[in-house]
Amino acid sequence: MAGGSGRVVTGGNIQRVVYLGGLGRSGTTLLERLLGELPGVCSVGEVVHLWQRGIAEAERCGCGEPLPDCPFWRKVGEIAFGGWGQVDVRRVAELRYAFDRNRYIPLLAAPALYPSFRRGVDEYTDYYARIYAAIADASGCPVVVDSSKHASLAFCLRRRAELDLRVIHVVRDSRAVAFSWTRRVVRMAVERPEQRPAVAGEGGRADNAGALRGSGDRAVCDAGQARRFCRSCR
Ligand SMILES: [Zn+2]
Repeated sequence: MAGGSGRVVTGGNIQRVVYLGGLGRSGTTLLERLLGELPGVCSVGEVVHLWQRGIAEAERCGCGEPLPDCPFWRKVGEIAFGGWGQVDVRRVAELRYAFDRNRYIPLLAAPALYPSFRRGVDEYTDYYARIYAAIADASGCPVVVDSSKHASLAFCLRRRAELDLRVIHVVRDSRAVAFSWTRRVVRMAVERPEQRPAVAGEGGRADNAGALRGSGDRAVCDAGQARRFCRSCR
């Protein structure tokens, strides 16, 4: 999803981002885990939820720590913003509400945006560009996988020239999706935090394998890649 006029350049290198799109229960978690096993690829879950769930509400990372305390994510926050405390989460939410909505996709798909709209999208996507670059820096992986899924966010991000954004639209058999939505999946980070990072029990998922690997810096990177944050419900 690269290309298009009116795209923003903030300088620096091109950051490669694989964006998984689709609807909930479509199998993006499986795909992102598979991609995250590849050398040089860092899968971080749904960045769209990082701001509120990860920073504001301090939900737990796959390593078991609240996201702001996780060594990997703390490093990401320092690189991207000089610390998570510097992020105006309320402002991010305002921008998301104002620009990152499916109803605006026709506007976002246009070759050029009218100035005030463009400035807002630029401000909003700057948060993401910083995060992606910081994840690549902190993990040492040149490719970042974001499984935010929302189509409108992909249309916002496509305007940034410093992102080499590739979108994978995941489509699952609708019968399997419908069946999946009949089942309740426990969000381990919120509902059973005491069970993390151990393998989830009934109703949960064995979603912490990577967080249990290794030690030292490698474990930090693995924890960041393998279970991310706030994704135990998907
Ligand atoms: Zn962690």
